[in-house]
Amino acid sequence: MLKIFHDKDADLDVLKNKTIAIIGYGSQGAGQAQNLHDSGLDVVVGVRENGESWSQVKSDGLAVMSIADAAIKGDLVQMLIPDEIQSTIYYSEVAPHMSSGKTLCFSHGFNIHYNQIVPPKDVDVIMVAPKGPGFLVRRTYTEGIGVPALLAIYQDATGRAWDTGMAYAKGIGATRAGVLETTFKEETETDLFGEQVDLCGGCTSMIKASFETLVEAGYQPEVAYFETLHELKLIVDLIHEGGLSKMWYYVSNTAEYGGLTVGPKIINEQSRQAMKEALRRIQSGEFAREFILEGRANKPVLNALERQENEHPVEKVGKEIRAMMPWLKKD
Ligand code: NDP
Ligand code: MG
Repeated sequence: MLKIFHDKDADLDVLKNKTIAIIGYGSQGAGQAQNLHDSGLDVVVGVRENGESWSQVKSDGLAVMSIADAAIKGDLVQMLIPDEIQSTIYYSEVAPHMSSGKTLCFSHGFNIHYNQIVPPKDVDVIMVAPKGPGFLVRRTYTEGIGVPALLAIYQDATGRAWDTGMAYAKGIGATRAGVLETTFKEETETDLFGEQVDLCGGCTSMIKASFETLVEAGYQPEVAYFETLHELKLIVDLIHEGGLSKMWYYVSNTAEYGGLTVGPKIINEQSRQAMKEALRRIQSGEFAREFILEGRANKPVLNALERQENEHPVEKVGKEIRAMMPWLKKD
């Protein structure tokens, strides 16, 4: 049975009299830093001096300083800048100050797992990864709930890495919801797989392919948009709330029968082979290498693909249709 850790399994005192340096004040940085501060811990935030985050940290009433100064002060240094710049910033600003016995922390395992950051042997290396965006990490904390998180220990130099991780998880409110143990390998590889195959990659490709199929067959793009994109949210919300069975219960018998019999023909043996191949490229490091080199080359492929995506007919139609539904606009 999977063990889920709660408040009683964590001791906040492990981080009392220690300084937590949050590097970056974006989605996760802002959420985690404010929660830790409100939990009574000593938090400093390291951001670049000319950036937007600097004044945001100040107006939120937290201690702001350069990334290097935060790394000097921090007994625990939490890396919350975008994954693709973490390695550069780590080596130039953070690494010189990772003295023996400190803790290096992440919310995603990519840079450690794929050796973009190789920390010294005498520091603890841990991951506390909230399973939700930063604004939700913050909002649920203020509501007394918290977002669940994954905890992983990569390197335990002090023998206290687990306790430190649990204390951090408690500080951000995650132990109120529940903390699961994982490894850097599992978190990184499953995260990449999920975003490529289901969440971001598979889902958008399914929308475009089904939309194109209807439009090519002569149906109106506006009607196709409703059926292949707009209604997805309704279905996903039901699945999210109550699993597949809640969704099957709420849709019509026609939708249930058609969905259960035709679905496996769409995500068929060929699709499963493609999923296995995507997983293989993640496990072998090929995807990581491709993405890292793409970043070094200033993202030519990503920029081109973003442009093509914006120009897709489903996006054009979508703008018109969504203008009819102003209530969709949030945040
Ligand atoms: P963001 O993109 O929100 O980070 C923005 C922060 O990074 C800002 O403070 C920004 O400062 C700083 N920054 C950006 N570029 C640079 C640079 N070149 N040099 C110095 N600072 C820079 O990051 P996220 O919060 O999305 O992600 C942080 C980590 O959390 C990642 O490892 C991610 O995988 C992980 N994670 C993210 C989740 C999410 O929901 N977003 C969920 C779970 C994990 P400035 O204002 O100066 O530009
Ligand atoms: Mg993810």
